[in-house]
Amino acid sequence: MAHQAAPDDRDAPFGAVAVVGSANLDIVVGVPRHPRLGETVIGGDHAQVPGGKGANQAVAAARLGAPTAFVGRVGTDDPGQALTRALTADGVDVTALGADPDAPSGIALIVVAEDGENTIVVSPGANSRLEPRHVEAAGVVLAEATALLVQLEVPLDTVAAAVAAARGTVVLNPAPAADLPAEVLARTDVLVPNRSELALLAGVEQEPTATEEVVALARRIEGPRAIVVTLGADGSLVVEGETVTPIPARSVDAVDATAAGDAFCAALTVRLVAGASLTDAAAYANTAAALATTRHGAQPSLPTRDEVVAALVHLEET
Ligand code: ADP
Repeated sequence: MAHQAAPDDRDAPFGAVAVVGSANLDIVVGVPRHPRLGETVIGGDHAQVPGGKGANQAVAAARLGAPTAFVGRVGTDDPGQALTRALTADGVDVTALGADPDAPSGIALIVVAEDGENTIVVSPGANSRLEPRHVEAAGVVLAEATALLVQLEVPLDTVAAAVAAARGTVVLNPAPAADLPAEVLARTDVLVPNRSELALLAGVEQEPTATEEVVALARRIEGPRAIVVTLGADGSLVVEGETVTPIPARSVDAVDATAAGDAFCAALTVRLVAGASLTDAAAYANTAAALATTRHGAQPSLPTRDEVVAALVHLEET
């Protein structure tokens, strides 16, 4: 039977969340259609939106009420300052966010056609200069955090260093998809892939569709204590030992899925460090992620705790 969402416990204490990951400035331009190779197409006004999976997840966790610190790297340029301001404005501790004098900030060039299809070019810039030594320098942040939340938009050896330094619960979002060393998987408490990331980690080419296929692939991945697979409009699936729990999505009018996965990972982590069960945390995360799909852009679309609490009461499960 599908798991029913439990309401947020407003009095539950919060643990601190440390996020190690990327920060990118998203430069978004709408076009009537995508250019062919070698062609120029005139687009509309561009928008600059703070993004990057790491920064998105840090902002999401902070908006959901957890004391949150971000470990990352930007340039000393204008985008780096804008990204730092955006994190600070949401109350994220940026003490361990470095500014690299020799690298530009990470940028994502996002071109969105009228039919909604987009193409994205990411220039990682300073994100690719986030090294294990920077994580080691942020040792206090990691040691004091109740949970570490990490993705794969920074170098893998940095991810490995973060996971090794973590003292609390490790939540790993393997996005963008990449193979992971066994020791990283072994130290991961909760792995949160989407269908395609799950397929890559399980070593198959075909994305799973049916629930049984998702479960079979999740069972192939050795190491994590639990795996929570995000399934887009189908919600999510919690695989914890022998127990499999489908968590229905919240029914919304989705307009833009950007950062829905980030809202999900952050919300799951925030509820776990507040002591919720994994299935309750996943139900809460579905709600936060559904809200993120109802608004455009990355960080502007991330909901606050009050919005999620209201939606838990008002939004139907699918
Ligand atoms: P990603 O964007 O990282 O690939 P998903 O597409 O699986 O991740 O979406 C992440 C989560 O966002 C889902 O598990 C679900 O909770 C929520 N979500 C995504 N699309 C919808 C939708 N159309 N309606 C409701 N919830 C959605």
